[in-house]
Order: sequence, then C-alpha cells, then structure tokens
Amino acid sequence: MSEIIVGIDLGTTNSAVAIVQDGQPRLLAKGDQKIIPSVVAYSKQVGWLVGRPALNQYVLDPDNTVRSIKRKMGSDERIKLGDREFSPQEISAFILRELKTIAEESLGQPVTKAVITVPAYFTNAQRQATKEAGTIAGLEVVRIINEPTAAALAYGLNEDDDQMALVYDLGGGTFDVSLVEMMGGVVEVRASHGDTCLGGDDFDYKLAEHAHKLFEAKHKTSLHGNRLALARLRHAAEMAKIELSTFPETHLREEYLAEHNGTPLHLDELLLRREFEELTEDLLNRTTESLKKVLADAKLEVGDLSRVLLVGGSTRMPAVWNLVQEFTGIEPDAEINPDEVVALGAAVQAAIIAGQPVDSILVDLTPYSLGIESATIMNGQVIPDIFTVLIHRNTTIPVTKEEIFYTLHPNQDTVEIKVYQGESPQASANTLLGEFMIKNLKSTKPGENPSVHVRFDFDVNGMLNVKATNHVTGSQEAITVEATQATLTLNELAEARRQLAELNTYEDFEDDDDFDDEESEVELEEVSPEMDAETAALLQRAQGLLDGGALTKTQAIQLKTLIDGLNEAETQDKLDELSEELLDVLFDLE
Ligand code: AMP
Repeated sequence: MSEIIVGIDLGTTNSAVAIVQDGQPRLLAKGDQKIIPSVVAYSKQVGWLVGRPALNQYVLDPDNTVRSIKRKMGSDERIKLGDREFSPQEISAFILRELKTIAEESLGQPVTKAVITVPAYFTNAQRQATKEAGTIAGLEVVRIINEPTAAALAYGLNEDDDQMALVYDLGGGTFDVSLVEMMGGVVEVRASHGDTCLGGDDFDYKLAEHAHKLFEAKHKTSLHGNRLALARLRHAAEMAKIELSTFPETHLREEYLAEHNGTPLHLDELLLRREFEELTEDLLNRTTESLKKVLADAKLEVGDLSRVLLVGGSTRMPAVWNLVQEFTGIEPDAEINPDEVVALGAAVQAAIIAGQPVDSILVDLTPYSLGIESATIMNGQVIPDIFTVLIHRNTTIPVTKEEIFYTLHPNQDTVEIKVYQGESPQASANTLLGEFMIKNLKSTKPGENPSVHVRFDFDVNGMLNVKATNHVTGSQEAITVEATQATLTLNELAEARRQLAELNTYEDFEDDDDFDDEESEVELEEVSPEMDAETAALLQRAQGLLDGGALTKTQAIQLKTLIDGLNEAETQDKLDELSEELLDVLFDLE
C-alpha cells in the first residue's frame, strides 16, 4: 500500500479533504457530502457533533455550538462547550479528525499525513496553531500552504511559466485577494489583502435584517431577543441568497417564525435578485477597495494580470463574477467548484510531495455562450436582434439559469423564444438551436408589460432544456436541443480562452449592460425597412466600421443604435432624420 498524503482545506465556514488518484485530484466524500461545515457542537442527548449535525443544532442551541473557530486560531482564547473548555486548536482538531475519518473510510486505509491550507495573511502563530490542531487529530502536517497557492495549483498554473494570477476569494466569513506569481514552476504569493470580517455571512445578515423589517412592518411584531427566530431568519436568508445565484427571483420563506396572541406568523416575501444586489452593493464595493490595494502593494496594474481565479462559495453570486470581470477586464476562471478548489489544490501539493504524477483537472463545460434573442428600447428606438446570454461560455455543466423577460408592449400576448449558441452580440449571427412560441401572456399588474420566465437547464449529456413559463397562467412551453459540449483540461481551456479573447473584438460591446440586461425585452414584431440607395450605402459604411472592431464601446453602441434605428424607421421623416445623424457620426468616426 503506497503512502497517502491528503490535502485539507480547513475553512472558516466549510472544510474538505481531497486526494490525487490516477493522476486526478478529487474530493473524498461521506455519502454524498463532499464538504462539511466547520462547526463543532455539544448536545446533551447525543454528545459531540461535527459538521452538518453540529450546524443543524446551531439553530436549536447556539450556546453549545462553535462556528468560525479559524478566526481564533493562534489566540489563547478558551472556548466553553458542554461543561468543558477547549483551545482553538482542540476545536479545529475535531474538524480535522472528522476529515481524517472521512478519508480513511473512503479509501479503506489509514491516513496519517496531510497538507493543510491557511490564508496567505496567517501569521506564524496561526500557522503553528494549525499544525498543532493536525497533531491533536492524529495527522502529521507535512506542509502548510497558502490558500491562493492551492487554487493556482488546482488550475495547473504551476505548469505554465511566467503568469500573474489574481485570486479573488470570498468565502463564508472572510474575503481576501492575492496576487500569485508563477516563475520557473515556483508558485509564490506576491501580495495579499483582505477583510477578515467580510464574507457570505454578511450578505445573509443584510438580507435577514431586511426580512426582519418586512416581517415587523407586516405583523407589527418584533423578533428582537428571540434568538431562535433570528437564527431561523438568517438560515432563510442564506437559502434565498443561494437561490438568487441561479434564479432572478425567489421567496424568503420561514413558517411559524413567531406568534401573536396564539396566531402563528409566517415570513413569505418575494425577493428579486436586483433587490438583493442593491441591498448588498456596499459589501461588494468593499472588495473593490481590496482589489485596488493589492495591486498597489505589488506595484502592478490590471494589465499585468494574466489569469483571474474565483475561490469561495460566495463567488457564485453573479454580481461577483460581473464585478471581477469588469475590474480586471479578464473573464475569471470559475470552472472548478469554488468551494472545492482549495482542497483540490492541497491534494495536488500533497501528490507533488509524495512524488505522484498529477494530470490537469478535466472539466465538462459549455464552450459557447447560450441565450435567447431579445430586443430593447434605447432612446425611444427599438433595437432588435440582441443576444441575451443566460449561460456564459466555459460554464461547468450541469448548470441551470433562469431570467425574466418582459414583452415590448403592454398588450403583447405572444413571444417567440429563439435559442442561440455563440458569442456575437447580434443574435442572428450565432447558431440557432431551436425556437418556439409562448402564448396568452398577461401582465401581473395593470399597465405592466407581461413577463415570461425563461429557464435553461444544461445537463451532462449536452442536452439543453429550455422552458418558458407564463407565470400568470402557469402554462409552460419547452424544447430540448443539443448544444455543443466539451471536455477540456484546464490548460486547454485557458489556451482556448486566450485565443478567443484575441479574436473577439466585440467583447466589451457584448458585456454592456444595455445589451445584456437581466430584464431585456423579448422582441415580437419585425419591421421591414424601406431604404433608398444613399441610406443603404451609409449603412454599409457604418457596418464596416462596426465590423472593424476599432471603436470604443460608446462609439459602437452609438453606431449600432443608429443602424438599428434606420432599419426600424417606419416613416420617411424618421429615415431622413436618422440618416443625417448617421452621416455626421460617420464623418467624425472615419
Ligand atoms: P466557503 O467558505 O468557501 O465554503 O463559502 C461558504 C459561503 O458561500 C457561504 O456564505 C454560503 O452561503 C456561500 N454560498 C455557497 N453557495 C452559494 C451560491 N450558490 N450563491 C451564493 N452564495 C453561496
């Protein structure tokens, strides 16, 4: 039996253990649970609890439950649990021992050695405390490595020379951003900056606070001092937050949250992703400050970055992806499950130490963006043929995404859903996968345009199921089409991404909010333009400029708006007015 070294991500919120087998890093699971909450508890009925059972008891008995022990590592604080006191190392050792058992049961052999990850900002005392926790749990800690380094190893960055990667890690309780440099196969953290008091939990608190206010206003009952109700409120908020990473709206729900004169009071509020993003905007803005700071500390600029890696469960929030993409101008790597990537990287490091071969991780993904055709109104003009992406290219499958679309007109009751794959901002320039109609749409409120919920489910067999739901009548239409699927190593993927970035001159155009709006409007009508030769020639010149790709985003949008306006013009006056305007714009641009 060969010696085994496991890789362990001992996280603030969650922990995991991984190993490299047959060259492939993989997580070791207990049943179907690959990740365990970093929670330890004491229950009078059943004794000591670790992981999910401990987290479950938090709601019932928060006083006998310890969360986020990682924050206390290196301190000499004592933690009271049951009728005993523990050091932070001893509490962490409970978690490590559970991971050791998971690994031993899964592998069917003893496990005594581990590589454990810590944040880049951990002091020597904190690193030493982590080692001691390992020893208490019966593990020889052969190496402590930095979490961003582990992420870089999981993505195989050590195999490429001279890279500068930015690792954006937003977990449950902490945020940190690091610059990781690869040189001659050596991976090193150049700079790191973070906020140890910012994480997914803060998003839950914000949302729970909002729900609390709504509840109080509706039921005229305060939950202050009701610890159990507040813990349940936070749990409901976290569930809603997670739902909103996939769906554009959800319900904040918790039954029997309190009672008033014997009447049970429930929480049930509709919450839009947009509302959630507004509520939590300031939290995300704090991460931008850290991004600026880490670059300044390393005396680097955004242009010096070659890769951006997303780590931590909270980076699944679409707003995070958008923020990081916008800040760096680089499409972030998020193919490896963000809450597994650190443990997988620790396993890669363990395999390197044990002299085991390691292959690049394989991922199944969608090599093209998938979306539907929509139209929007800009400056009073209808801009048709817009490709609205639901699933971005290079998304790991299986994946589900849902968005809400509104009709262009209040009394429009039918829309045609055209499903495309490709990267052009112009829907018709992509590959049409299928189309269908959804009828009898009605508005939810008088004067409001009817809406349709469009859901994309892309499964592991490459089948894309598209479902459109009329939420007023509940009727649904669906089609299943075959979309292109790929299995790539992460290095092949990075190369493909680089090549595409060079070809894609309209990248920034595509990412413009107006063209990728969560609530774009679905086009219904097509207007046939009547055009004279002079205007047609102008249009050709404008299209030529647009295709040349040398325009700024604003110029491209201005030109595209005019082109579409001309194509849409219904009267001679409008046509003349717009062609004159186009002539002026072309004069400036050419
Ligand atoms: P980690 O510490 O990396 O395990 O991250 C845990 C945090 O990620 C918790 O705050 C979770 O609520 C959050 N999280 C997990 N999945 C999602 C999701 N799909 N969308 C938003 N947050 C998530």
